[in-house]
Amino acid sequence: MKQAESTKWVYLFGQGSKDWKDMLGGKGANLAEMTNLGLPVPPGFTITTLACREYLKSGDYPDGMMEEVREGVKALEEAIGKGWGDPKNPLLVSVRSGARDSMPGMMDTILNLGLNDQTVAGLIELTKDERFVYDAYRRFIMMFGNVTLDLGREPFERMLQDLKKRLGVKSDTEVPAAELKALCAEYKKYVKERTGKDFPEEPWQQLEMSILAVFRSWDNKRAHDYREHEGIPHDLGTAANIQTMVFGNMGEDCGTGVAFTRDVATGEKRLYAEYLFNAQGEDVVAGVRTPMPIEELAKRHAEIYEEFVGYADMLEKHYRDVMDIEFTIERGRLYVLQCRVGKRTPKAAVKIAVDMANEGLIDRTTAINRVQPDQINHLLLPRFDPAEQDKAIKEGRLLAKGLNASPGQASGIAVFDADTAEQMGKQRPVILVRPETNPDDVHGMLVSKGILTARGGATSHAAVVARGLGLPCVAGCESLHISEEKKALSVNGITVREGDEVSIDGTSGEVFKGAIKTIDPEFEKEVELQELLEWADEASRLQVWANADYPRDAARARLYGAVGIGLCRTEHMFMEEERLPIVRAMILADSVEERKRQLDRLLPLQREDFRGIFHAMNGYPVVIRLIDPPLHEFLPNYADLRAEVAELRLSKPGSTELKEAEEMLRRVDMMREANPMLGLRGVRLSLVMPEIVEMQTRAIIEAACDAKAEGVVVKPKIMVPLVGHVNELKRIREQLEKVAQQVLVERKKKIKYQFGTMIEVPRGALTAGEIARVADFFSFGTNDLTQMAFGFSRDDAEGKFLLRYLQDGILPDNPFQTLDVTGVGRLMEIAAREGKKANRKLELGICGEHGGDPRSVEFCHKIKLNYVSCSPFRVPIARLAAAQAALGGLAESASK
Ligand code: PEP
Ligand code: MG
Repeated sequence: MKQAESTKWVYLFGQGSKDWKDMLGGKGANLAEMTNLGLPVPPGFTITTLACREYLKSGDYPDGMMEEVREGVKALEEAIGKGWGDPKNPLLVSVRSGARDSMPGMMDTILNLGLNDQTVAGLIELTKDERFVYDAYRRFIMMFGNVTLDLGREPFERMLQDLKKRLGVKSDTEVPAAELKALCAEYKKYVKERTGKDFPEEPWQQLEMSILAVFRSWDNKRAHDYREHEGIPHDLGTAANIQTMVFGNMGEDCGTGVAFTRDVATGEKRLYAEYLFNAQGEDVVAGVRTPMPIEELAKRHAEIYEEFVGYADMLEKHYRDVMDIEFTIERGRLYVLQCRVGKRTPKAAVKIAVDMANEGLIDRTTAINRVQPDQINHLLLPRFDPAEQDKAIKEGRLLAKGLNASPGQASGIAVFDADTAEQMGKQRPVILVRPETNPDDVHGMLVSKGILTARGGATSHAAVVARGLGLPCVAGCESLHISEEKKALSVNGITVREGDEVSIDGTSGEVFKGAIKTIDPEFEKEVELQELLEWADEASRLQVWANADYPRDAARARLYGAVGIGLCRTEHMFMEEERLPIVRAMILADSVEERKRQLDRLLPLQREDFRGIFHAMNGYPVVIRLIDPPLHEFLPNYADLRAEVAELRLSKPGSTELKEAEEMLRRVDMMREANPMLGLRGVRLSLVMPEIVEMQTRAIIEAACDAKAEGVVVKPKIMVPLVGHVNELKRIREQLEKVAQQVLVERKKKIKYQFGTMIEVPRGALTAGEIARVADFFSFGTNDLTQMAFGFSRDDAEGKFLLRYLQDGILPDNPFQTLDVTGVGRLMEIAAREGKKANRKLELGICGEHGGDPRSVEFCHKIKLNYVSCSPFRVPIARLAAAQAALGGLAESASK
């Protein structure tokens, strides 16, 4: 990519290309591209992001910039035959922000610039439409007052609303010219009162002030919040696009619309567009008026519709992606004002990627990279239970139906402003309810579970932002009466106040009073996702296994595409209600014989568990981890017991109940440790009390024999937790091998099994070369490894200080969610390398929570692990992440 010299500040649209996003911003680069493709783009030019950065740094625009702007304006004058500030035939422009990354509606725009008392007169002469001209003028003064003079939009809106009320009219178009003229004067008077200066009439002054205001809007709070959330760097700056105005509000042969080349909600291949007759673009995007489907345009102006469809098609083929296109029709002539890669829902992202690959528009690698692993998460989120939804309808809780603007379902408490949403959303799920949203609401939208608006269409701000965030949204629900003041919505005599529960279904557009229960997703029905994941598996080197403790989890893991169980935590089986008394009796046994007697009772139960898992995983490996937690976790809580004993001493002195409780308290007290996480657990417990793991080993091998006899291909792997010294593993392995061999002799069977260890103690990682000589496999237990590498308690850190660390930027990510590559990752890398050097056949995996986190998966690919293992629900995410890691990068940011 060749970019021109950095000292040039201004580029005419035809001088750039779509690859110049860094310098021209996304909007500028695409305008350049469309101009070069020969589309009817109103002429314009782009001021570079570098100029913005210079301005933000020094507080002044760079030398030479305004001279180039003047030359640009001259080029526009020549292109369209109008004069800058010419009272007879004035050139009017828009000034729009446009950063490298799409930040819809976060920064500022000014339209109709160049209007003043003289040019207004000329324009009336030309258009013979006084009403239109004063409407354009009052919009300009309002936008300029808001953006450039920081006066806000509300005072101007209020003056307009008051005027409409006085005239007794509902829509803006009913306000006559003379009244609009008076409104312009009122606006200007307000500007003078507030700023102490006259409204600037001189077009050059207007332009310069507007450009700088657009540059400054890069730093406004909502843009900052949005970047923070989307991970966009704060130092890039925005470009400013100066474009000749075309008007969609000059009468019924005019209009404006927004189109997506495919349905960005479902992914279906059809033009998905909305149109407003006699309106300006901001009316559609701001959601002030609810638009109509584009078919209306096809009916009334078939040729223009056909022409537009042709451009839409051309752009999709050229960009090889779904495009979001803004267009305007001025007196029967079509103009394309902007295009960008369309934001889409997770469902649409998957379908579009797969469809486009199958259509031959993109290759499979591109398709894989077009979907972000986290988007899959949204697809597989729980949804409303249809029975509960039906019940809600029968109970009369269906309040209204609006536009299904962004799919998904959510329940939460209703809040009516963004600040409250921001506050309350941290404690419980909230649904943000607004008449319409605008960029000032974004901080509240970020923490909400869903968005509900009374006005606006599928391309309104609420809808676009919600889709980008993967949040359900019902928009344009016009039957709702929303009162911001009373913090309530009412419809058909029912009122929902702040704090009451509401549910929204962004897939159907329905709004309900009260909460609705959810059910698990149906992976089987996601055919496109399955196809994409099959392609992903072909591209990956890293396998994806699952953590599963029960046969039903193992079955789900297989359904989601796991090709092994990387961690079966056997202690979970001990916790089950009917087993716990046996486990307790075993722990509290006075003699080895008594302990063994209790273990004999557990043996058949464990054997059945394992047999079920082997069946579910027929042909795939199963890693079963021997008991890990300290034994006190199976006994009653010490503090509770003390309270119970104290109570019994008062209420039932001398009773057997008291004696038993006292005995239990004594035993639990004996087992207490100051640091149980660093105490008698894992392999240490097995060495001190080998009977438990001997029983477990027997149960595993017996279950393998049983399953094999039933025709199942079994691949058992026995895993020892918490090894920090090679001798720990060596000693326990010798002991357990004897048990395994004995079972095989008894059963007269030959079964291949393996012994391996978790690497989750830093010393284990650092001495991996020694340990690998007595292990067939390593599995990184990154939960404990993170805990011990940082010295952060995994049970307390988040509640006590970790969230604060994240807020203050002390840590970039929560290390219990995303692998700390620099520290913990280094330990893993050393262990993987040295382990492999000592034992060429050593198999490497990870089974901590990080195994389902896309960035951590990428790291695991880099250090050449054989598999990642994660919860069954995250298996599809990990499959995609593994493929993207192999293909050399994270998902394209454009398709977010
Ligand atoms: C780990 O420590 O990463 C692990 C998987 O084991 P657990 O979470 O059971 O300690
Ligand atoms: Mg662990």
